[in-house]
Amino acid sequence: MFLNKGPLALIKLLTKDGILQKPTKCPHCASASVGPLKYCKQWNGYVYRCSKRACHCRIWPHGFHPIFYHSKGKGSDLNMQASVLFCATVGIPQVSTHLLFDVDAKVVARIYNNLDAARAKFVHRQEKAIAYGGWCDVEADEVDLGKGFLDDTTDGQKKGVTTAWEQWGALVERGRPESLRLFRLNPAATNTRAPGPGPICKRVTWEKLHYTKVYDLKLPDGPLLVREMLKTLMSA
Ligand SMILES: [Zn+2]
Repeated sequence: MFLNKGPLALIKLLTKDGILQKPTKCPHCASASVGPLKYCKQWNGYVYRCSKRACHCRIWPHGFHPIFYHSKGKGSDLNMQASVLFCATVGIPQVSTHLLFDVDAKVVARIYNNLDAARAKFVHRQEKAIAYGGWCDVEADEVDLGKGFLDDTTDGQKKGVTTAWEQWGALVERGRPESLRLFRLNPAATNTRAPGPGPICKRVTWEKLHYTKVYDLKLPDGPLLVREMLKTLMSA
């Protein structure tokens, strides 16, 4: 479809499909005087030419394109790039495309990456205009408000499931609190979790001071000590 087309037929086909566009302004001097597509012997291809006297710049039909790029190589000419883009848009994986055309993986990767970047740029630009059901910017969240313990012996209940959760969801349009919608969720009952060690944190605790009385005693010497001891014993 793309590989065997001549250069002019390919450019016409891509322009008809809206993939290529005739530049409305010259990218070099910004003047609106861009001439028709003509064959250029010097560049060996079909180009547009700015007709402003001070500029006269030539522009490739795929120059300044968000996905295509200009390359003189045989495996990465416009025919191949268009074929790779076709594969990328119909959902063929990047690896398969590389094997299918037997071309350098870099050519395929470049087209696939450029397509992704172009899509992301488009979504970024259109993001503000995208609306869901008349709402513009919606926030949604859920919260657990409590839990209850189920009787383990209840019939029709999965064995070992012991905890039921009270869970609510909410939707609100950003900047319009009156649009808040609350709805009760029905989460599945779960097992009881094993008790953990609890939050681990370094706590500082204050202890009351303990005072001790200091004694200053003078003990007698060796023989004296024995004499004193005997005296005490005798008197007792
Ligand atoms: Zn120009």
